[in-house]
Amino acid sequence: MSRAASRKVLAAWLREVGVEYVLRPSRPAPEAQPAGPAPGGETLEDIRGELAGCQGCPLCAGRSTIVFGVGNPRARLMFVGEGPGVDEDRQGEPFVGAAGKRLNHWIARIGLRREDVYIANIVKCRPPENRAPFPEEAKACLPYLMRQIRAIRPEAICTLGATALNHLLGIEERITKVRGRWRELDGVPVLPTYHPAFILRNAARETEVFEDFETLARRLSLPLPK
Ligand code: URA
Repeated sequence: MSRAASRKVLAAWLREVGVEYVLRPSRPAPEAQPAGPAPGGETLEDIRGELAGCQGCPLCAGRSTIVFGVGNPRARLMFVGEGPGVDEDRQGEPFVGAAGKRLNHWIARIGLRREDVYIANIVKCRPPENRAPFPEEAKACLPYLMRQIRAIRPEAICTLGATALNHLLGIEERITKVRGRWRELDGVPVLPTYHPAFILRNAARETEVFEDFETLARRLSLPLPK
């Protein structure tokens, strides 16, 4: 008899003798999830350790700190942005400025907290003047992001803006054309949406982001935004 079947038999018997038996969900709630390594893999802390003092591209010269990523190491949902801005460079955490507040709001709409998801960027050091990272910079940093994705093994990734999408998937697409349409990376479904900084300048387009978050919520069986 399989393990699942024998648990059901046991549950039925316990109920019969008057014991209320609750079957444990197959995936623990995010806060209860173990912070250890994925089976056979490296941990986020292994990767973070390797990045310390990184001089893999010229962006290291202008950074205050390496912005590694933040959130649940067993997150079901991961977000990937472009690169740290001034606030992120100071605080060492992605999406802590105005764009981050917008992102937190979208995350809350699907019943999650910022601590439930994982948030990272294409590059981990701040590009000067908030410019998009150059292809060589993205190329130097991408292997670390890929390792983070493999360590976390999220059920879905949401890319924020064209830069994140195109560097992560190695494509050149217009975000207005491809947002809301599933892609795939290493077996992980990837949903592109707009960057929150773009939405701060183009509020009318936020309804499209809401649609995309609904798509994410459906995929992960999360509460649909009202
Ligand atoms: N924009 C990004 O793409 N990433 C951040 O961390 C902050 C702003």
